[in-house]
Amino acid sequence: MSATGKAHWEDLFEPKVQGFKKAIFNDYDSIRELINEQTCAIMIEPIQGEGGVNVADVDYVRKLRALCDDNRILLIFDEVQTGMGRTGKLFCYEHYNIEPDIMTLGKGIGGGFPLSALLVKEALNIFDPGDQGGTYTAQPLGMAVGLSVLRELLENKIVENCDRMGALLKETLFELSLQYEIDNIRGKGLLLAFDLTKSNGYEFANKCMKDGLLINSPRETSIRLMPPLIVKEAEIEKFKVLLKTNLCEKEGS
Ligand SMILES: *Cc1c(COP(=O)(O)O)cnc(C)c1O
Repeated sequence: MSATGKAHWEDLFEPKVQGFKKAIFNDYDSIRELINEQTCAIMIEPIQGEGGVNVADVDYVRKLRALCDDNRILLIFDEVQTGMGRTGKLFCYEHYNIEPDIMTLGKGIGGGFPLSALLVKEALNIFDPGDQGGTYTAQPLGMAVGLSVLRELLENKIVENCDRMGALLKETLFELSLQYEIDNIRGKGLLLAFDLTKSNGYEFANKCMKDGLLINSPRETSIRLMPPLIVKEAEIEKFKVLLKTNLCEKEGS
C-alpha cells in the first residue's frame, strides 16, 4: 500500500512506510531523476494490472536493469498479477531477457488458496530458514498447494496454453475492433485490456455479466480480460459472440 500509486489507498492505514518516490511509468528519465545515493531499490509491475494493463516497454525495462546494476540498486518486480504463466511465460520478466533481483508472487501461485511469496536471488538472501517467524510463514499446507500449482502449470503445458489462447484472444479483439467500439488493445498472454469508445465500462461489464461473461472494468473507459489459464478455443469463440451482442458498432459501420 505504501508503494502503490493507487489513490484509493492513499489515506488508508496511515502512517505508511516512508521513502517511496513515485515515477511515471515507461518514462526512464522520470525514474533516473529520482535516484540518489540513498536509493536502495526500484520497484515496478512489468504490466500494471489495476492501473489498466499498461505494459512496460522492453527498452525501458532493460534500461532500468542497467541503471540498477550501475548504481548498486535492487530491481524489484511485483509479479503478483503477471507471474505464474498469466502473460504466456512462467514469469513476465522473461519477456525482457533480464532478471529482477527480487520478485513478489501471490494470487495465481495458490490457484485460489491464499498464498504469497517473496523470491530473492541467493546472493542477496539475508535470511536463514526459520529466521522470519510468523504464524503463517512456510505453512506446510500452503507450501504443498504452491508446489502442486507449479507442477500442474508445467506438466500440463498451461503456460503454453496461455500464450496460444492469449494470441487468439488478441486476434479476436483486433477482428472485432474493425466493426465495433474497441480501441487500444493491449497486454500480453491472458492479461489483456481494451478501451471502449462509446459504452461506459462499468455498465458494459454488468451487462456482460448478465449474459454469463465475467469481465472487469478497472476504470470507466477500459475493460480488462483475465480468463482462466486453462481457457480453450471453443470458449474464446463463445466469448466473441457474447462480446459482440453487448458492444456498440463503430461510427460509420
Ligand atoms: C493483489 C496484488 C498485490 C497484493 O498482494 P497480497 O498477496 O494481497 O499482499 C500486490 N501487487 C499486485 C500487482 C496485486 O495485484
